[in-house]
Amino acid sequence: MASDTQKTLPCPDCGKTVSRLAASCPHCGRPMEAAQLIEQTAKKYKLIQLIGFGICVVAVLLVAVSAACQSEVAVGLSCLLFGVGFIQFVVGRGLAWWHHG
Ligand SMILES: [Zn+2]
Repeated sequence: MASDTQKTLPCPDCGKTVSRLAASCPHCGRPMEAAQLIEQTAKKYKLIQLIGFGICVVAVLLVAVSAACQSEVAVGLSCLLFGVGFIQFVVGRGLAWWHHG
């Protein structure tokens, strides 16, 4: 189903699936430019989430390395970094939800 959602978009007017390559909805004739704009915005929030997730992954690795080196300060900083990444991930999700439901 993932490939279906990548190839099609829901029409904002009639709700039926429309090819993202279509200039307008074949069901009701609505121009699809607005939907493409929403999709671009959604990609921006997905990028924010992706960066946040990446920070979390790096932070987990740093926590593991810091723990192995028995450096409590480094563990603390790594945990802080994880928190920052997690917040960014949550904010990205929240913004996507706020703008797109
Ligand atoms: Zn339509």
